[in-house]
Amino acid sequence: MLGANDGIISTASLLVGVIGAGTPATYVLITGMAAVVAGAASMAAGEYVSVSAQADAENSDLNAEARELNRNRDYETAELASIYEGRGLDSQLATQVAEQLMEHDALGAHARDEIGIDLDNRAAPFQAAWVSALAFSCGAVLPVLIAWLLVDGWWVAISSVALLAISGGIGAQLGGANIPRAVARIVFWGSAAMAFTYGIGHLIGNAFGSNFIL
Ligand SMILES: [Zn+2]
Repeated sequence: MLGANDGIISTASLLVGVIGAGTPATYVLITGMAAVVAGAASMAAGEYVSVSAQADAENSDLNAEARELNRNRDYETAELASIYEGRGLDSQLATQVAEQLMEHDALGAHARDEIGIDLDNRAAPFQAAWVSALAFSCGAVLPVLIAWLLVDGWWVAISSVALLAISGGIGAQLGGANIPRAVARIVFWGSAAMAFTYGIGHLIGNAFGSNFIL
């Protein structure tokens, strides 16, 4: 949802900016297509880098934990027991739970309860990259389509704001948040972003004139 909103806002803003500068229709379309590809690629690259860094940190924590488990099993059992005691078990039960979990899956128990990593749900850089690129593209396609068909900044802006309102509403519904507030917020900030780039585009278009662009 967030990636799709990014796609709508950044692409629609860019398009109203170049339309505001008086750019001819063909160039508007080329700009829009480049915006979709560049945005999707940058989301994928950014997400891949950040999730990879997270995965590296998880791996190094897990390796350190595995080494500790090999080196000093008694200490690690006591450590696990004290974690469960801290969560409300009495000390005898905590020790019992810790001992049984050490037998069953020592690394899994330490990963989950000591360092907060769920071994069944590890950071997946490639998957995260694909998902965000796809989400961005889904959002970015509509403003480009409208710009291509109508070459009109107002239509791009109005249809994009409508789409943002829908996606903001769905996002709030899924997240159990206040729907009118979420819709108002995304509509306001999305419109502000478009108005800002339109203004800048218009100023640049006025300053250089359309001869410069052609
Ligand atoms: Zn440990």
